[in-house]
Amino acid sequence: MQNEIKETAPVIFTSEMKKDYTILVPDMATIQFRLLRAVLRNEGFLVEILQNSGKQVVDEGLKHVHNDTCYPALLVIGQMLDALNSGQYDLNKTALLITQTGGGCRASNYIYLLKKALIKAGYDQIPVLPLNFSEILGGGKGVRITVAQYRKGLIGIVYGDLIMLLKNQVIPYEKNKGDTEKTIEKWIDLLTEQINQGKCYSFRAMKKNFDAIVADFAAIPVRTERRVKVGVVGEIYVKYSPLGNNGLEKFLISQGCEVMLPGVLGFMMYAVSNTEVSYRLYGGSRLLRRVMRIVGAYFAKIDRMMIEAVETRSQFVAPSPFYEMKALSEGIIGHGCKMGEGWLLTSEMIELCEKGYENIICAQPFGCLPNHVAGKGMIRKIKEMHPKANIVPIDYDPGASKVNQENRIKLMLAVARESMEE
Ligand code: SF4
Repeated sequence: MQNEIKETAPVIFTSEMKKDYTILVPDMATIQFRLLRAVLRNEGFLVEILQNSGKQVVDEGLKHVHNDTCYPALLVIGQMLDALNSGQYDLNKTALLITQTGGGCRASNYIYLLKKALIKAGYDQIPVLPLNFSEILGGGKGVRITVAQYRKGLIGIVYGDLIMLLKNQVIPYEKNKGDTEKTIEKWIDLLTEQINQGKCYSFRAMKKNFDAIVADFAAIPVRTERRVKVGVVGEIYVKYSPLGNNGLEKFLISQGCEVMLPGVLGFMMYAVSNTEVSYRLYGGSRLLRRVMRIVGAYFAKIDRMMIEAVETRSQFVAPSPFYEMKALSEGIIGHGCKMGEGWLLTSEMIELCEKGYENIICAQPFGCLPNHVAGKGMIRKIKEMHPKANIVPIDYDPGASKVNQENRIKLMLAVARESMEE
């Protein structure tokens, strides 16, 4: 007989709690989330990005989340429960923050899985704060993250995207080991200072900072040599999270590769642009469509500014503007295919091929049907279009061995090295 889970009313995160509750956030894109933490802290949320990892995280996830659920849900919930178990936090003063995408994919339901897991683990006093668009549009109870705070968070993430992009193009070539890391830390400190003074959010401030960041990374002394260029795409959590992908980015750098990871902003623009597609295909709220058009135009302007800053230096490869990248998958996959990363995965793989990153790792989590269709399912078509494409799908699940994953990647790198020699 299945264990009965007692029903309790969810605890609402109130404004009184904001003062002294530590809010735990699962880690994902490391640089971007450090800046997001700075933004949220400055807005009065005592946010902590979780860094706990290891087998016990997976075990907690397996214990409290149904094993049919996709791997990112299992890890995110496991990481939170493991943190609560650690004894580091006052359980009467701790809350959890989790994203709720609002689409048809399971990411919309993580919050219910988390609440259920909390009850099962005996932590039903812990409030959960959702990060979702219905909160912006006035839904939900308790403390809401406001539109202004979302905007600031987004800008923090964009700065993180730029730093990540430049880091990956400099670190394999740096003459003095550690220069790139120093530049990253310098900019995280500078931006945190500006965030605390509310000074980095205007278009003017962004342009100035983007140019200065690019100039700083361009000034790092580098060796001129050829390296295997590897692009990484996949489900958003396993693509970025070292916990989800067993430190993939670090592993590739240790193998002497130059890595290209498309930014988080692209995913946000994808989510926004899908409202238009939904409206066209299924109808719906005109107001929402208009709001999302304005949001999309705002994102596109920041996207362009960042690309223009990178393009000022010929040694760097800038990503394509979002709508150009989107157009790359037209006629190959329907843009109504928008569960999970949907058509974005296909567009990103084609873009990577066109930018010279033909060696691609497609990170696939267990239990993720949408990304298996739009990622793995599109590889053959992309190889037909780009015969040099060397794409390997890597599966991430609780039972997969890191050694096997790395061996498959090493095999792909061997092919990449051979074709580079040729
Ligand atoms: S995209 Fe895949 S892995 Fe991510 S939440 Fe949806 S089903 Fe799960």
